[in-house]
Amino acid sequence: MFEGIYVHVPFCGRKCPYCDFFSVVSSPLGAGEYLGLLVRELRLYADRYRFKPKTVYFGGGTPSLLKPEFYEKLLSEFAKLVDLSRVEEITIEVNPESYSLKDFKKLREVGFNRLSIGVQSFSDRNLRLLGRTHSAERAKRAVLEAAEAGFENLSVDLIWGLPDQGPDDLERELEVLDRLPVVHASAYLLTVYEETPLFRLREEGKFRPPDQEEVEKLYFTLLRGLRELGFERYEVSNFAKEKRYRSLHNLLYWRSRPWLGLGASAWSFDGRRRWANPRDLRLYAERLRRNEPPAAQVFDLSEEELFKEKLLMALRTTEGVPRSWIEGRLPPEVVKEFFVPAKGGKNLAFNDRGFLVSNYLLSELI
Ligand code: SF4
Repeated sequence: MFEGIYVHVPFCGRKCPYCDFFSVVSSPLGAGEYLGLLVRELRLYADRYRFKPKTVYFGGGTPSLLKPEFYEKLLSEFAKLVDLSRVEEITIEVNPESYSLKDFKKLREVGFNRLSIGVQSFSDRNLRLLGRTHSAERAKRAVLEAAEAGFENLSVDLIWGLPDQGPDDLERELEVLDRLPVVHASAYLLTVYEETPLFRLREEGKFRPPDQEEVEKLYFTLLRGLRELGFERYEVSNFAKEKRYRSLHNLLYWRSRPWLGLGASAWSFDGRRRWANPRDLRLYAERLRRNEPPAAQVFDLSEEELFKEKLLMALRTTEGVPRSWIEGRLPPEVVKEFFVPAKGGKNLAFNDRGFLVSNYLLSELI
């Protein structure tokens, strides 16, 4: 059964203009109430299924808006319901401005062994463009303090593809990264989602992301730069210095393993069905107060749908998929140009160029 637990913490200090995650700036629920609901939700599943998760992941939102003591209490309540003795990885997403050395030390004490720090950029100009409240200096300090507190498995999030960002700018950011004790990086191309303020700005011509040619230049600069620093790509946007630093939790998603998502807007997958909690705190709370599973949508996947999902998720990784899933579905010259053998030749995975045009290739495949 569930091999990982994801907990969504839907609170933010302010809303970033590019973000389409579910989070609220002023919440109808206090942190204590939310904690109670998360425990209640876990109890619903713990009563029905026996499972021993290997990973626990706190994402958001801004989980670091809440103090480490919140997670100490939450994890001790979880431990009363589920056997956590097999957990190998406990991650929390942290915004650079939230925690100081003392908090990082407390997180270690509570049992966290992996941090994902929302650096986004080491350039103040880019941080302003992204509407972030921290500075590049603060981001560096957060990484250093986390390391000082004893975190070895440190990941940073980076966003690239900003207006007027050239390969030189990106190289300068990677130079900063090189001087920090970071072993994992998630580097995302800025995506302009509908219904975000950034989308409206782009429509009004006030925000001009790079065109395809510029994106391609930045992409290859990023790949080359990260590889020079010793990072190896293992997923479309994820890079680790060694295999042991790959995100075990995220690998569950990409390998289509079952996980349980708790909290407003969280998704779950039991190997057959997917379900999503409401993107609404009041609704989430109401259902749980009646002791009902809060899921707003449930998708029973057919064999065909399961196969497609598996294919889509696995092709995000450099583990790829069995050859037969690709060969025969795409012309041989396309396979030759955009794929490489993986897993000792049993599988095929995208090459660098394949990842760049993966959206197009995936739509051809399914
Ligand atoms: S802090 Fe993160 S979750 Fe919150 S609005 Fe910004 S990007 Fe979104």
